[in-house]
Order: sequence, then C-alpha cells, then structure tokens
Amino acid sequence: MPEITKCIKCGYESESNKLKFRVPLCDICERFSPNDENSFKEYVNEKLDSKVLETFRKYSKPKGLPQKQGMSDKAEKGELMSRPPFGYNIEKGKLVPAENFREIEEIFEEFLTTTISLNQLAKKHSFSVNGLKKILKNFTYIGKIKFNSQVHQGSHTPIVSSTLFNHVQNKLERLGTKKI
Ligand SMILES: [Zn+2]
Repeated sequence: MPEITKCIKCGYESESNKLKFRVPLCDICERFSPNDENSFKEYVNEKLDSKVLETFRKYSKPKGLPQKQGMSDKAEKGELMSRPPFGYNIEKGKLVPAENFREIEEIFEEFLTTTISLNQLAKKHSFSVNGLKKILKNFTYIGKIKFNSQVHQGSHTPIVSSTLFNHVQNKLERLGTKKI
C-alpha cells in the first residue's frame, strides 16, 4: 500500500513523495534538493510554502519523464532557490523585493529611454555586459517564473511593469539585429 507522507520542506501531502536522507519530500522539492547531506539539511530547514510550488506542480510531469540531471538541474535550482535575481531576496521560500529593487527599474528605464550603450550601462551599475543582458531579459521582474524553459505566472511581486519590460525586449531585439 502506498503511504501518504507530508513533504518536510513545503508540506505537500502525497503518496508519490520520496524519501531522501530518510525524510519525505515531494517530487519538486526532491528535484531541487542538494545531494550533499549538510547542504540538504540547510535546504530542508528553509521551509517553503507549498503554494509557491503550485505552478510547477501543475506543469511538471513526474511520471513518464526522465529526471533531469546535471547542468540543467543545477541551473534550474540556481535560478529558483539559491540565488535570487538582483533586486530580490528570498524570505521563507518566496521572492520578495530587496532594498535595492528600484535600481532594477532604473536600469530598465535608462536602457530604454537613453542612448547609453550596454557597455556603459553595465559599467555604471557594476555588472558585466552579460550580467546586464540577463537582468534585462529576466521574466522574474514582471512576476513570472521561467521553469523547464517555459514561462509561468509566479506568485511574487513584480518590480518592473510589463509595458516597460516589453519595450526593453523590443529594443534588445533591435540592437541584436544590428549586432551592437
Ligand atoms: Zn515539497
């Protein structure tokens, strides 16, 4: 008989929860969990509201799909859990705007409304050009979450308006075609 257990990280109750280091985890928390036992304990102690994961649960197909391993796994984990994007902090498993969140909006506006080059803008805010590009393309800032290469509605507070974000995407594309 399959037994219903409660995910120790997010509280999700299911009979498909798995045991790792002898604690029950739902498929999503399990997928993001570190394999090193010490990091694992830290990870588990940082509780997560299972609602945060609802979007992922809806779209993830635990059965039939092979477990993603290696790089992509780590990339997803990094994006979602361990390193919040610049302008956000992680509190209780949720993304919350950090003290510096206005700087993000400034960067988007400056890029859109001035003729400053990506190079100059990156320098001004102490980013690498690639780091800056990642910021300007990051859906997190409009309240969405990229997961398994699909963009989903997140449950966190946006810090950039969709209009501003879309205009910036257009300008990035324009610059891209001109190879600047
Ligand atoms: Zn869980």
